[in-house]
Amino acid sequence: MARLVMKFGGTSVANIERIRNVARHVKREVDAGNEVAVVVSAMSGKTNELVAWCRDASALHDAREYDAVVASGEQVTSGLLAIALQDMGIQARSWQGWQIPILTSDAHGSARIEGIDGSEIVRRFKERQEVAVIAGFQGMHKETGRISTLGRGGSDTSAVAIAAAIHADRCDIYTDVDGVYTTDPRVVPKARRLDRVAFEEMLEMASLGAKVLQVRSVEMAMVHKVKTYVRSSFDDPAHPNEGTLICDEEDIVEQQVVTGIAFARDEAQLTLRGVADKPGVAAAIFVPLADANINVDMIIQVISDDAKTTDITFTVPEADYNRAKTLIESARDKIHYQSLQGATDVVKVSAIGIGMRSHAGVAAKAFKALAEKGINIRAITTSEIKFSVLIDAEYTELAVRTLHALYGLDKA
Ligand code: ADP
Ligand code: ASP
Ligand code: MG
Repeated sequence: MARLVMKFGGTSVANIERIRNVARHVKREVDAGNEVAVVVSAMSGKTNELVAWCRDASALHDAREYDAVVASGEQVTSGLLAIALQDMGIQARSWQGWQIPILTSDAHGSARIEGIDGSEIVRRFKERQEVAVIAGFQGMHKETGRISTLGRGGSDTSAVAIAAAIHADRCDIYTDVDGVYTTDPRVVPKARRLDRVAFEEMLEMASLGAKVLQVRSVEMAMVHKVKTYVRSSFDDPAHPNEGTLICDEEDIVEQQVVTGIAFARDEAQLTLRGVADKPGVAAAIFVPLADANINVDMIIQVISDDAKTTDITFTVPEADYNRAKTLIESARDKIHYQSLQGATDVVKVSAIGIGMRSHAGVAAKAFKALAEKGINIRAITTSEIKFSVLIDAEYTELAVRTLHALYGLDKA
């Protein structure tokens, strides 16, 4: 007997027939004698619709009410799955975040989980053999008692956090692909499924755009040592494949230099031209952005021919582009620049692999390969186990495929 958390994403619960299919997966584990907590997302497209309704009602809406609205998608699917399970003769009960409770910070819209009381769920495993069907993505602010949500893709984090809280033996993230691939299989048909991925690599892949797992869920799995698998809900419920295990790097036998390629379309670039080259200029630009909670990612500075001025390029999340631009414009008296240019049709493509720690020249090889395809690199960043390039969005697929082939990741 084992204790499991099974999480099902939006496409896996998109309609009643798929919810019935999910119930069959759950039944398999219950019949095998396991204690099961299930975490569900909203039906696919539902959260987007709810978000759009909030924006439509008011562009500047109250974040607490946004959470009250967008959390409702998971309320529906948790109840429906409990009904489908009961219909198959399985004892099941749905749980909202506040009923457990899953306590969070007050950052409405992207709250952090701060504590979960799993005792009642465990008691019911023992006393009633009852399956807990938990609404993902939501919690309750620990002081005000108001509903909170965990940021887009947050059901992954709900699942891993619950697995940690109830000391589950494993956490299975069921989705619409059968594991973690070397890159998004919808963009590169030659992408290969990985049997195992190291926590550090998965963390980078998720932060750099591979939305198969929410970044915080990977952090949580790493910190709490939750044995987490990514697998498919579209496999035959009687004979599913195991999927991809996210694990410690020591547990990976065949180590590649580059494990995966990720890309993020939600980037924007700002370039200040003719900035006076003197001490304090970088602070004048970046301190106001930091104060406004705008995350600056890539930064490059180029000295001009006259050596008196420089050009500074940096990237921010696309969602913060207009705010960043307005801040820089309003600080023009302090920064002294000649012109400000911006672009939102850019994409960040990254290569990730723990093997980069011990191999030189990995990124250089990519710059050459991209140049040969006529792809211009606007900015570069590197760190221990990844490098990223910012390029024009129209070259996204070409760049991802080029790097995927370059590092030997293409399926034979
Ligand atoms: P869910 O609704 O189940 O949470 P998501 O849409 O959030 O599913 O995540 C699954 C999707 O992630 C896949 O359909 C795939 O297109 C995308 N994806 C991006 N990068 C990868 C990758 N490296 N491996 C697997 N899937 C990826
Ligand atoms: N339904 C939420 C979203 O679409 C949470 C999730 O699916 O993980 O972001
Ligand atoms: Mg998801």
